[in-house]
Amino acid sequence: MSVMTLFDWQARAASAQLRTQAFINGQYVDALSGKTFARVSPRDGQVFAHIAECDKEDVDLAVKAARTAFEDGRWANMKPSERKRIIVKLAQLMRDNLEELALLETLDTGKPINDSLKVDIPLAATYLQWYGEATDKLYGEIAPAASQYLTLITREPLGVVGAVVPWNYPMIISAWKIGPALASGNSVILKPAEQSSLGAIRLAELAIEAGIPDGVLNVVPGFGPTAGAALGRHMDVNKISFTGSTEVGKYFLRYAGESNLKSVGLECGGKSPHIVFADAPDLDTVASGVAWGIFYNQGETCNAGSRLLVERSIKDELLERIKRVTETIKLGDPFDPTSQIGAIVTEEQMKRVLNYIEIGQAEGANVCLGGKQAMPETGGYYVESTILENVQNNMRVAQEEIFGPVLVLTEFDTPEEAIRIANDTSYGLAAAVWTSDLSRAHRTARALQAGFVWVNCFDVSDPTAPFGGFKQSGNGSRDKSLHAFDQYTQLKTTWIQL
Ligand code: ADP
Repeated sequence: MSVMTLFDWQARAASAQLRTQAFINGQYVDALSGKTFARVSPRDGQVFAHIAECDKEDVDLAVKAARTAFEDGRWANMKPSERKRIIVKLAQLMRDNLEELALLETLDTGKPINDSLKVDIPLAATYLQWYGEATDKLYGEIAPAASQYLTLITREPLGVVGAVVPWNYPMIISAWKIGPALASGNSVILKPAEQSSLGAIRLAELAIEAGIPDGVLNVVPGFGPTAGAALGRHMDVNKISFTGSTEVGKYFLRYAGESNLKSVGLECGGKSPHIVFADAPDLDTVASGVAWGIFYNQGETCNAGSRLLVERSIKDELLERIKRVTETIKLGDPFDPTSQIGAIVTEEQMKRVLNYIEIGQAEGANVCLGGKQAMPETGGYYVESTILENVQNNMRVAQEEIFGPVLVLTEFDTPEEAIRIANDTSYGLAAAVWTSDLSRAHRTARALQAGFVWVNCFDVSDPTAPFGGFKQSGNGSRDKSLHAFDQYTQLKTTWIQL
């Protein structure tokens, strides 16, 4: 990788030839209406692209192409080892085009270029590779039925899969979905968030280069209530795999009920708690886990550790250390390779975050770090890393997902109280426990209503482990790991009389 400066990245961004069209049936096309929408840069508030604004008619075309590709078996009936080779090649092409894809990811989202280069694009490639490699390692089963029958249980692809993704980790979350969907033989229509279409649009071209046949991977940029809803309501889409807000997740369940009862996999919001007991092994490690766990990616992470529950006796000491860590995390221009926190994705989202900080104060919380817009002179959307203390769990800032760099701190006295507060939320995505007592760690992890629990660490992740939430953080489906194949396949039982 070449050593690039802020100046180099800015120059590259300014001269980049951006692909902005939809990708349907192996071709870049305008929206049928000819409409586009402007994308405003989070780093300076300037328009930098006009993206094809797909609507129902474009989604119809994409679904037709995906259906035709599925029915004629050009992908689904290809030898699994061949599908594997192609998906693994796509992962390699992502790595080969690392700097370009990272640039697109940072342009769109405002996340630091260093993260796009070192985390988002490499991880997205890793997930694609992992699922590519799994393609020819999935076996069926033989049921232990009565001996005069051979009873085969096979996994079959669903057909046409709509992947509707958010803007916070556009490439990673797309890879979580298109990896297993393609590996199991489906055709896919990817609907990127309107804030972050560029990477998805470019990925489609790399997919063709890798050898994925036309029509198997389509990309329809556009708005949620139009393009997203058209996919959700389509009579010929078999599955929606969605990541985004709980509110929109509920829409997709409704769309399915009002159309063809398509299967809907939801990974939604979170308000994930840390529980820090006074016997936590090392407060510096905790402080670092808590600070990075909320402020990484500007707090725009569904599993961010946004609630800090701390045992009263260590509250002051821990808070001091978290502040110290936070003050070392460099906020700056997303194209500055030394920035560790960049811009909030849109002005609307920045205002929402700032509004929550005001709501928290009106509810009685204290701002003990940050609290304001940063670098307003840039015209971009930056918010200081913020900590609110004196937060009661019934306050809106403790109950509602802020999706920004805001940590809320609540004190507790007993383990029972900590668990009660941790679970007193409509969400159940993630949680963390910090303690030196092994039994307490297990007891607490078991009592926490969350899809994943970290003990004495935070945000550890790997393709091998499932990702998804309890309660209103999801509906039982899981991204990542081999469990993701449950989302994109259906079981068929075949009884053979012997
Ligand atoms: P976030 O809160 O992260 O912006 P959203 O749930 O609003 O998440 O968006 C996630 C995805 O859902 C995006 O691709 C967006 O376009 C889509 N979306 C938003 N609103 C709707 C809707 N009413 N119907 C269908 N899709 C939607």
